[in-house]
Amino acid sequence: MILTHCAACAAPLGLALGKKCGRCSTRYCGPACQEQHWKEGGHDQLCKLIKKAGGAEQYNANTKYTEAVSVAAEACAEDTKGQTCYICTQALHWKTKEGLVRMCACRGTAGFAHVSCLAEQAKILVDDAEERNLDYEIRDSRWARWTACGLCEQEYHGVVLCALGWACWKTYVSRPEDSNTIRTCAIGVLAHGLGDAGRHEERLQIQQTQFSTQMRLGLSEQELLATRCNIAVCLEELGRDEEALALRRECYATSKRLNVANPGDLYIDVLNLSKSLLDTHRHTEARSFLREQLPKARRALGPADDTLFKLRWNYALSLCDTGASREDVLEATTLLEELSSTAQRVYGPSNPVAAGVKRDLAHARRKLASSTDS
Ligand SMILES: [Zn+2]
Ligand SMILES: [Zn+2]
Ligand SMILES: [Zn+2]
Ligand SMILES: [Zn+2]
Repeated sequence: MILTHCAACAAPLGLALGKKCGRCSTRYCGPACQEQHWKEGGHDQLCKLIKKAGGAEQYNANTKYTEAVSVAAEACAEDTKGQTCYICTQALHWKTKEGLVRMCACRGTAGFAHVSCLAEQAKILVDDAEERNLDYEIRDSRWARWTACGLCEQEYHGVVLCALGWACWKTYVSRPEDSNTIRTCAIGVLAHGLGDAGRHEERLQIQQTQFSTQMRLGLSEQELLATRCNIAVCLEELGRDEEALALRRECYATSKRLNVANPGDLYIDVLNLSKSLLDTHRHTEARSFLREQLPKARRALGPADDTLFKLRWNYALSLCDTGASREDVLEATTLLEELSSTAQRVYGPSNPVAAGVKRDLAHARRKLASSTDS
């Protein structure tokens, strides 16, 4: 279920299933809203149309898709002027009359397309892989066509990725709800697209609804963990850092208790929690937490691991709090010097990680200099 609010009063539905229209499955918080919507909200007019479209969930997906396509085409209008679709060779789509998009790495006259044509292509490729029961790897590469350009293979971004997200969701919304199905993957594509377009509030609602659905279906803690992690990302994007921290603590505790097979997954949760502690200015707690985790992470991941690098970076930041002692800042500076030269070598100087470490090093050096003066 992606419909997250009562159709009449817009109250969030949350875990409760509320009341459904018996014909079209439109959802309400209760019978009063359902009755009111039928009598005064125009549902008596729309009900048949929604049922014909495949029910409320499908109807909602179709409507959101159409809106998202026009937003995407509008945003690309300047870039796509005078061009044609590389799939159907037309400027205007023959059926939908939608305009073209292009938000990938294609340059020149390459890569212009209609979202509908891109979606149609992705659907055909995925259907074929499903029907012929092709290898996991092939299926995966075909599924990637919901998010990446088939020509330059770069992921689309912003409003185009968002429109493809709705396209993907509208294609698979009627599939069964149980775990690990194509329907779950489609929600993932939609959530990713909404996030990239900066629509974090919508993304959060969808992830929360997804979580409720998964709870209702009795999914494993491991599967729920992934969704909870996605919810924490949304909360962080929305600046709701305290709520995100509470969730990060739970994710870490669960991950630790489940004793996940891949240690990399556990230390991603450690990394996220330490980041959350820093975001909420809990430097002392972050410091002792990381002091305890770093030796274990080094043993489990090996010295050249990317997550270990980021854990050490966070550790350095935890030493640079406003009330930090000169000793701590000195330790942070030494560590950041080491990390900075590693980052330059491994990622290259223009990489955001290398640039970030360099910035933090400059900050630590200034702090060290000012503490010498005083
Ligand atoms: Zn209501
Ligand atoms: Zn209805
Ligand atoms: Zn086309
Ligand atoms: Zn491209």
